This record gives sequence, C-alpha cells and structure tokens, in this order.
Amino acid sequence: MDSCSVCKKEAVVFIPYSKKHLCEIHFIEMFDRRFRKTLREFSLLKKGERIAVGLSGGKDSCALLHSLVQLNLPLDLVAVTINEGIANYREKTLETAKRECKKLGIEHIVLDFKNEAGMMLDEIVKNDSENIPCSHCGVIRRYLLNKGAREAGADKLALGHNLDDVAQTVMMNIMRNEPSRLARFNTPFVNDRKFVQRIRPFLKTPEREIAIYCILKEIEIESIECPYTRFAFRAHVRSILNNMEERFPGTKFRVVNSFLEIEDALQAKYTKTGLGFCRQCGEPSANEICMFCKNIKMYKGC
Ligand SMILES: [Zn+2]
Ligand SMILES: [Zn+2]
Repeated sequence: MDSCSVCKKEAVVFIPYSKKHLCEIHFIEMFDRRFRKTLREFSLLKKGERIAVGLSGGKDSCALLHSLVQLNLPLDLVAVTINEGIANYREKTLETAKRECKKLGIEHIVLDFKNEAGMMLDEIVKNDSENIPCSHCGVIRRYLLNKGAREAGADKLALGHNLDDVAQTVMMNIMRNEPSRLARFNTPFVNDRKFVQRIRPFLKTPEREIAIYCILKEIEIESIECPYTRFAFRAHVRSILNNMEERFPGTKFRVVNSFLEIEDALQAKYTKTGLGFCRQCGEPSANEICMFCKNIKMYKGC
C-alpha cells in the first residue's frame, strides 16, 4: 500500500493530476479546502443569504448539502427537489433526498412535473419518440428549479454540478456551435429579479472525488443513474473526456479553466441581447415564448 504524500500514513486514494497519494484525513482536508477556496474565488456566498440547494438525491447534490451545512456559516439553507416522474429512478433518489434533509434538519421542497407540466417525464417520452428525453427533462427541470428557488425566497440556487459536468457542458456547446449558451452559463439574466442566480461550488471538484468523499463521509446515496442518460449527447462527450483524462491527467481542469478565462469576453459579446420574459408564463426567457411553454404546448398537442 502506498503512503500518504502528506503524513506517510496509509493512503486510500491516488490523485492522478497532482500525482499524490492521500490518506482519509488528508483527502477530506484537500476536498474541503478546495470547496472553501472556490466559494471565495468566485464570491459565491454571503453571510445571511438564503440558499436553495438543487437536491436530486444523487451523490453530487447530497455532498453539496453536507459541505454547505459543514461550513457553519450563518446561511439559511433550503433544499429543492424536482420529481420528473422517471420510474425505478426518481422514487429512490427522492427517498435519499428526504432522508438527508431530515438528517441535517434542512427544509425540503419537492416540485412535481405532473403538477407543473401536466404530465410526468415517462409519459412525455412515450408521446415523443423523435427527441431524446434529456432535452425535455433539462428544460423543465431548469425551469422548475428556478421557480422553486424563487418561490422559496432564495437569494441563490446552488447546484451540485462538478468539474466533469462543467467540462462536458463547455465541450458540448463548442461541438454544437452554441457559444452564446456558454456565455449564459454562469450569469444568465443576472439582473432579472425573476431569475435566481445559480452557483456551482463544485465546479472545480472532479466527480470521482465526490464519490470518494461520499464513501469516506458515509453519506449513503443510491448509486443509480437516470435510465435515459445513455441516450444523451452528453454521454458521448463524457466518455471522450474520461478517455482524455486517463491519458492526459488534468484535461478536465484545463477545459474548465480555459472557459473561465474567456468567459468575460463571451459575456461581453452575447449577453446583451435576448433578455426578457416569456409572453405566456412570464418567466425569464431568451425568446418570446420560453422553451418550457413551447415544449408543453407540443406535448399537449401530440
Ligand atoms: Zn495523510
Ligand atoms: Zn413560458
């Protein structure tokens, strides 16, 4: 067994991009330190704020909730879970979300697709074989998370998106030639009072390390993937990036850092246009009719 690069005790994990072996204590220390550093670096939180945590019940959002609680800052935390209605998947993660909130004493709000969109995702998918499920789900989930966070009176919406997710999003937008979406990634419609500012405190934390953190911290999560994931464009990009990371450790960090480096320039170019509200529902939208209303109309029509 290798010994910890810091204290020489038995290591439990190897970090390829820094070539370090770490014991349990020093891994958790590194993880927590990076979390706090990210919060400071991007000024993500202010004392006294009400923070809604988008809690799917997966490892990322559960670890995020734990990390935020552990900060011991005067924050007012509330968890928001979206129930899309995906059989054999959401019931289990919803249970996990409920249990974690109870354990940590956090207020928990659950919003159903059924109530808001008129039907559950499984039904939407059944009625529409042309589009991949994730395209609908992403639109509705983002819309409802924002609405849920706003109605809960939150100043910000914290998402569990990790380094891998962000690197994938950057590459996807480039591969689809949608640089304007990248410009809106961190600060979309930031001046609209209807839009709750999103923060991603794990944007510099690799997915693998969140999984290890959950195990070491005994955060019990269902290691269950959304059954629709395999259909998504994202799944391909994920596999490409994982391949690159294995051969060239640090690739994901470099992709995300490159994006952060050019983010200002992207925003200057794109975000001045397209701010507004949906004519139908009044929610923030880049178009006259928001994607949510457009999709809902389509489902009901078919
Ligand atoms: Zn150590
Ligand atoms: Zn709308």
